[in-house]
Amino acid sequence: MATTVKTYRMFVGGEWVDAESGETQTITSPATGEVLAEVPRASAGDVDRAVRAARRAFEETWSEATPAERQAALLKLADLIEGHAEELGRIESENVGKVHALTMSDEMPVIPDNFRFFAGGARLLEGRAAGEYMKGYTSWVRREPIGVAGLIAPWNYPLYMAAWKLGPAQAAGNCVVIKPSEWTPLTLLRLAELAAEAEVFPPGVLNVVTGDGEPAGDAIVRHPDVGIVSLTGDVDTGRIISRNAAATLKRVHLELGGKAPVIVFDDADLATAAEWIKIAGYFNSGQDCTAATRVLAGPEIHDKLLSELVPQVESMRVGDIFAEDTEMGSVVSAEQLERVTGFVDRAREAGAEVLAGGERIERPGYFYRPTVIAGVGQDSEIVQREVFGPVVTVQRFDEEEQALEWANGVDYGLAASVWTRDVGRALRMSRKLQFGTVWINTHIPITPEMPHGGYKQSGHGKDMSIYSIEEYTNIKHVMASLD
Ligand code: NAD
Repeated sequence: MATTVKTYRMFVGGEWVDAESGETQTITSPATGEVLAEVPRASAGDVDRAVRAARRAFEETWSEATPAERQAALLKLADLIEGHAEELGRIESENVGKVHALTMSDEMPVIPDNFRFFAGGARLLEGRAAGEYMKGYTSWVRREPIGVAGLIAPWNYPLYMAAWKLGPAQAAGNCVVIKPSEWTPLTLLRLAELAAEAEVFPPGVLNVVTGDGEPAGDAIVRHPDVGIVSLTGDVDTGRIISRNAAATLKRVHLELGGKAPVIVFDDADLATAAEWIKIAGYFNSGQDCTAATRVLAGPEIHDKLLSELVPQVESMRVGDIFAEDTEMGSVVSAEQLERVTGFVDRAREAGAEVLAGGERIERPGYFYRPTVIAGVGQDSEIVQREVFGPVVTVQRFDEEEQALEWANGVDYGLAASVWTRDVGRALRMSRKLQFGTVWINTHIPITPEMPHGGYKQSGHGKDMSIYSIEEYTNIKHVMASLD
């Protein structure tokens, strides 16, 4: 597919601006190595300008907007995304190395749907208590926007993850400064162009800055006028951001990594479990925080599951992201390819059995074969750490207690799935699994009405659902004397 190199600018205070230093960054496609665009590289000064524009817009316009007006703006944004799905889907696929057909079927439709959910949510915010709790006084609770929300997004689902942040923050009445990943800024910049042309928001309500984690992301985190910082990213980035946000004691919302167990009991439907592991393990090249990375299989089903899964994984079609029958694209960058290769090589050296894949694919871009690894111990690096690539490990457990211990026995707690026909067991497991999402006989579907977010080192705070909108509000108690 022919691509034209486009030069983008940042969107600050309703205007298109370059970085004050004039510095830019070249964006390339990991699926081909082709240059796609040039984007500004923001400094702390650029971020300061954006935060000041957001603050001004909050005070002058957006804090006066009614819920119905905020809803209307978000609905307009949803319509724009839907109307430009083909263009945005192509940009996203090229920038991340995603299979275009899957971007179109699985990502582009849910993004406007999420915005529509948040648009509705703008009208549902409410304080929970009102009444006379002390004699002679009346009290009520107000939920108020925080002011300026600093939003920092990852590269795996650039527009979708931006939607999870923009939607609730703006629905709650905040103005935002959002920074996409330095690797994948293009769809968000294009969305800002569309929103500007259609005059979706008053100037300064939506500000997009582009650039690296440091200095640009860091400047958002440290800025005294940013009241909440919301990150989707790596656990280590979450730690750094928590530390740096402490100086101004701002609220921190963290959606971090995962290492989702897929617990397949002996009575599970084998074919369905194998099919879903293939889908949920390798979708987006496994670069998904809820990817089905860690299969724990019962003693009887373990070998049968491998016999079913391995040939399916080996025959997956990987390559040209615009070919109709491609099932998996590239990983996002040379660094990511290096990282995945390192994990698998070290596992192999430590004695793991690589049953499928286990090597890069020699073609332009950064491609790795979908990989299945067995014979790994619970304490091994490949079981304990997030690879964020197309790698699934399979462990054999003896009994339910061990499955539970292993499933919970990692630092992460984002999502897990249980596969069994025994209802009691499914319910027992769902109660004891220390994960923010537990699926039963499925893995990976999510819906905007339901919360998504981690336990333990997968972070805190919820994306989607009314909980996410509430995250971007302050709670105020107003008390009045009745005398
Ligand atoms: P990353 O942590 O490298 O980068 C995320 C964002 O943080 C980028 O915009 C980056 O520029 C910024 N950043 C980096 N250092 C910073 C700093 N010091 N201060 C401020 N900002 C900084 O993560 P990534 O590699 O882009 O994304 C992959 C990670 O995201 C994986 O760990 C994945 O599991 C996680 N993720 C989690 C969820 C979830 O819902 N929990 C969803 C998607 C991805």
